[in-house]
Amino acid sequence: MASIGLLDGQTFISSHPDRSSRGRAKRNHRPRELREAGIAPAKALGQNFLVDRGVVNRIVRAASAGNVDVLIEVGPGLGALTDGLAGVHPRLLTVEMDMGLAARLREMHRQERVTIVEADVLKCSSAELLVGAGLPPGATFGVVGNLPYNAGVAIVRHFLESQPAPAWLVIMLQREVAEAICASPGRLSILGVSMQIYARPAHLFNVPPRAFYPVPKVRSTVLRLDLRPEPLVMPDDREAFFGLVRAGFSAPRKRLRNSLSDGLKRPVAEVQGLVERAGVDPNLRPGALAVEDWLLLAREVEASA
Ligand code: SAM
Repeated sequence: MASIGLLDGQTFISSHPDRSSRGRAKRNHRPRELREAGIAPAKALGQNFLVDRGVVNRIVRAASAGNVDVLIEVGPGLGALTDGLAGVHPRLLTVEMDMGLAARLREMHRQERVTIVEADVLKCSSAELLVGAGLPPGATFGVVGNLPYNAGVAIVRHFLESQPAPAWLVIMLQREVAEAICASPGRLSILGVSMQIYARPAHLFNVPPRAFYPVPKVRSTVLRLDLRPEPLVMPDDREAFFGLVRAGFSAPRKRLRNSLSDGLKRPVAEVQGLVERAGVDPNLRPGALAVEDWLLLAREVEASA
């Protein structure tokens, strides 16, 4: 298998915290693969390439835990993770939207067990991807990727809602987004609720901007999402459930009875009764509720309709 060097000979990226704090490592050298291929990173596709071997190894290790038939790598780019992933799993399917990068990867990975698909992953169902790679539509899979910042949440949501759904995802996202997805009651947001009904999240590790070329303005975090055997809200109930959660968060600083009264456009007294019947404290702020509280509330709202 062709091996992909991450850095050219002259590039040295220190992981010593002092370097960045003294401002000496603000820019990374352009990776050799980009120079040789004459490729400029496309901002619109969120192309911040990983150039830190230590971070690559940690992601590959995280993706090797979890027994599935195939790994799907989203956005392989220059292939920083691809070699390592192919090394820990017998079957790898990658989906890259950039035509030039996909063609380059196809040249480098000619073995049957590595499939390079050139596509917008948001336009492919998981069943299409699996069948297209010669796998049964019910094959179990894990999703791995250093996701583009601008489409990371959409890509995660796409897989959480897909049929079949992955067993797990190991993904890198902007740190604030990852923290919102992993948040516990007290800091839970609509984003956290909308992800946690499908999966249990776990924060794995943080990644500093200097691990990428070009160096992004934001910090990153790798997290793992383990899919629940069944989503906590069934497809037919999702519209009503998220209508309720959005109503609850319509005024996030207010207490639940007031924010829900605003959002549902129902009198405070009526909402207070409803919330109490659900066994939830109406004095809490919406972010303090657990996902289970939202489920109890949804049941009560439905019963009162
Ligand atoms: N995995 C590489 C790495 O870690 O160096 C590249 C990561 S870069 C942050 C994101 C990659 O996703 C880019 O290669 C970009 O072209 C690709 N990409 C962006 N949007 C995509 C989409 N909708 N479908 C598939 N690939 C996409």
